[in-house]
Amino acid sequence: MSDYTPISEIPNIYDGLRQTFRTGITKPVAWRRRQLLQLARFAKENADALAEAIRLDLGKPKQEVIMAEVHPVIERSLIAAEKVEEWVKPEPVTTQAWQQGWNPRIEKHPKGVVLIIAPWNYPMILSLQPLYGAIAAGCCALIKPSEISPHYSAYLAQNLNKYLDPNAYRVALGGVPEITRILELKWDHIFYTGNGKVGRIISAAAAKHLTPLTLELGGKSPVIVDSSADISISAKRILWGKINNAGQICVAPDFILAERSIVDALVESMKAHYKSFYPEGPLKSDSYGFIVSEYHFERLKGVLKRTKGKIVAGGKWDEEPGKRGFEPTIVVDVKPGDSLLEEELFGPILPVVTVDSIDDAIAYLNDRDHPLTLYIFSSDENNKKKIIDNTTSGGVSINDTFMQVSMNEMPFGGVGESGHGRQVLRYSFDNFTYERGVTDTPYGDEPAFAARYPPYTKESYEF
Ligand code: NAD
Repeated sequence: MSDYTPISEIPNIYDGLRQTFRTGITKPVAWRRRQLLQLARFAKENADALAEAIRLDLGKPKQEVIMAEVHPVIERSLIAAEKVEEWVKPEPVTTQAWQQGWNPRIEKHPKGVVLIIAPWNYPMILSLQPLYGAIAAGCCALIKPSEISPHYSAYLAQNLNKYLDPNAYRVALGGVPEITRILELKWDHIFYTGNGKVGRIISAAAAKHLTPLTLELGGKSPVIVDSSADISISAKRILWGKINNAGQICVAPDFILAERSIVDALVESMKAHYKSFYPEGPLKSDSYGFIVSEYHFERLKGVLKRTKGKIVAGGKWDEEPGKRGFEPTIVVDVKPGDSLLEEELFGPILPVVTVDSIDDAIAYLNDRDHPLTLYIFSSDENNKKKIIDNTTSGGVSINDTFMQVSMNEMPFGGVGESGHGRQVLRYSFDNFTYERGVTDTPYGDEPAFAARYPPYTKESYEF
């Protein structure tokens, strides 16, 4: 594509960012605060245009963009501006009494020039959330948004630097050739959000330079529903979690493990809520998006065609070329080994697996990769605790979907195959800083050190 960043330009952009970092301009708190306020202004003043760009990429309803992308970027950039002074404050260290006079402290310093690689599904929050972290940390940054959400990416490239200092923050556009060149350079941190296959490519590139890395990956986030759950509310909340962004969310409920005694009631309730969400059908609704690309559209059709389960709601898609609407689709009687239980679905298909007990659900999860999020629907405190204590996941949300990612104060990230590192506000900042242990020993303490200098005597090491 012609508006991609020329590959020959990439090293020049990198050199420019490095030179800026060396000047020290990004370090004063007042400067960081100003850039953070500017980032909030960018999101606020461009909200409509950003929502329109994202609608063109994903058909995402404006309300979803404002709630899940624009609003958190504004709010969190403003909070970061307010908190950055507190975050950068050196932490005093309490040591053994005889060391306390050496002024021990932990200082928070910027890592330097960092790279942010973002995906297409929440293109704004997933590129600008790491960015406010990098700005607050005092770093320079190159942002590489996804080529699969081209309208958003182009808008960002054309407009971000009307607000932020172009010497310190840049956007590069492109696909695999451009990112490959970018990854040859030595970054001081890479923050990657996307799938695990590419995560491995990024990790290999980072390893060449020993570059530290945050990997925000995905996986199959399961939902366990036990027999004590409030069926109607659970059904409604799970379905809502699946239809948002047409299921193209890293923390979308991927599949349900439901106890046998309530599985039929749960499915019937989801069908009823489905009708109330989309009385005219989802493909005619303005409250429902579409699948981002032909590749993902074909992939979803493929896994649905191969399932041995029974489709009880949805199951149709737009036949008109280029439209890529895909109905939320509930599939029951899905058994381990089914096509719907192989890879992360990342789309609006919701398989329901029947289990005989909570122990069976736990065993199922422990045989597989650790998910980004685990959803539990239950009114039984013992079951909630048992599931949390006996499984591993990046986060847990009980009796609702997405609540764990909506909070400013909560760390968000994966474990194992779903990634490592954390984000949101203070945690975003932490990615781009390093803790520097600093001491300042008074010359006046010299007499106390007499025993450490050669020539050594027996008394100098005997306890
Ligand atoms: P994507 O295809 O947009 O890829 C992400 C980024 O990787 C893009 O900027 C792209 O240019 C780059 N990329 C693609 N191929 C590359 C290659 N060969 N070498 C180097 N870079 C390359 O997005 P995606 O991976 O389809 O995103 C969806 C995945 O991301 C899902 O697995 C989802 O669960 C995960 N995800 C995770 C989070 C999180 O916060 N943990 C958030 C959103 C999405």
